Amino acid sequence: MATVPVSRLEQLDREHLIHPITELRVHEVKGPRVIVGGKGIRLETADGGSVIDGFSGLFNINVGHGRTEIADAVAEQMRRMPYYPSFWDFSNEPAILLGERLARLFPADRGLDHFLFTTGGSDANETNFRIARLYHAVRGDHERKKVLSRRWSYHGITRAAGSATTLPAYHAFYEPEANFLPTSMPYCFRCEFKKTPPDCEFLCANDVEEVIKREGAETVAAVIAEPVQGTGGILIPPPEYFDHLREICDRHGVLLILDEVITGFGRTGRWFGMEHWGIHPDLVSFAKGISSGYLPLGGVAVRRGVYETIRDQSPKGLPFMGGLTYNNHPSSCAAALANLDIIEREGLVENSREVGAYLLESLRQALADHPLVAEIRGIGMLAALECTAPGTVDPIGGSPMVFTSAVSTRCWEKGLIARAMWENVALAPPLCTTRSDVDEIVGIVSEAMREVAEEFPTD
Ligand code: PLP
Repeated sequence: MATVPVSRLEQLDREHLIHPITELRVHEVKGPRVIVGGKGIRLETADGGSVIDGFSGLFNINVGHGRTEIADAVAEQMRRMPYYPSFWDFSNEPAILLGERLARLFPADRGLDHFLFTTGGSDANETNFRIARLYHAVRGDHERKKVLSRRWSYHGITRAAGSATTLPAYHAFYEPEANFLPTSMPYCFRCEFKKTPPDCEFLCANDVEEVIKREGAETVAAVIAEPVQGTGGILIPPPEYFDHLREICDRHGVLLILDEVITGFGRTGRWFGMEHWGIHPDLVSFAKGISSGYLPLGGVAVRRGVYETIRDQSPKGLPFMGGLTYNNHPSSCAAALANLDIIEREGLVENSREVGAYLLESLRQALADHPLVAEIRGIGMLAALECTAPGTVDPIGGSPMVFTSAVSTRCWEKGLIARAMWENVALAPPLCTTRSDVDEIVGIVSEAMREVAEEFPTD
């Protein structure tokens, strides 16, 4: 329960808090939904209610709520040494141990064995852009500064990461930087080329090469890609897509940055999204599931060859000039270590794979023949119902997100957080979700879909 009366909290929230992705004038009328606790997949609201967290917060609370062992590990670290910078040669035990552990967790043949921990995903991507440019510069390729990112991508909100984000909603009054260039991606349901794999010849990957050639390979530092585009709508690439992308990068000496901020740490049913497509990235960004949100943490993984190039070819006396006050934060790294212990001990990656498959199958059984559901996609604990006006790719009701927002609201009223993402109703429950939880979740979504659909007659 909250320590202050709920009505007072709601009033103070309206008066003092700014909420991301929220229309301020609407919020002042509607007020907040105050969350005060949680256990497993369920959240406790300030008015004493309970709701299933069908989205793991923001795709990140992988181990679920109320894991006191993480709190204990953090408290112990905070009592001993809450924070000290890792600039220069200062170091700390949790960050060292976390780096060593990740080197073992990433697939052995990828050579991903050097890490810099950040505070989240945006600054992980910022750091990787900096590393990619530095890598080229120390080899004498000073002009390689451009970064390609794919349509429907979300890479964060800070200046460079926000420029790599291509979802148009993030660019109102805020133009991307000139060095960031959009390119195609495999959103097969809405294929830009009106083709279907495997007969499409991967025109979307070829478009990446077209943009590299158009700009001049000697100006391109990196391509950044999410293994599964999360915020874009759980967009899962076909087999072989990433082989093509890797070949294109290699052909033009361009680094491949894999943004595993959502897909890392079991979300897709493997430890990392790269394992599904055999991707060999040069740089990896991660965040979210590494600490399940118990404390802020992100980071970059650097392939050994890239690390060694920067180490050996940087001008003598030039330090690595990337540095956030909270890089390699000991208390956040302690939270991550305890979080990884839970994932390993409880077999949550396997659970994500098995129960995730059951979630997808259950959604298909319940809703595949729903007239407003055009496609049901999923991998691990990620699933989306693509909802369109029958036989089209257009939004139901004629305006973007009207239908999916209404379904999300109805789910909330029935005790489930499901997110409206463009024309998708999306789910990403914690990795500890059980089959009977899935039955409950799918029951609520199906009911909400049926009820809301009645308000949107199709003929
Ligand atoms: N990259 C991806 C794929 C994301 O989904 C996100 C956040 O949702 C980010 C980067 C940015 O992470 P953060 O919000 O921690 O800065």
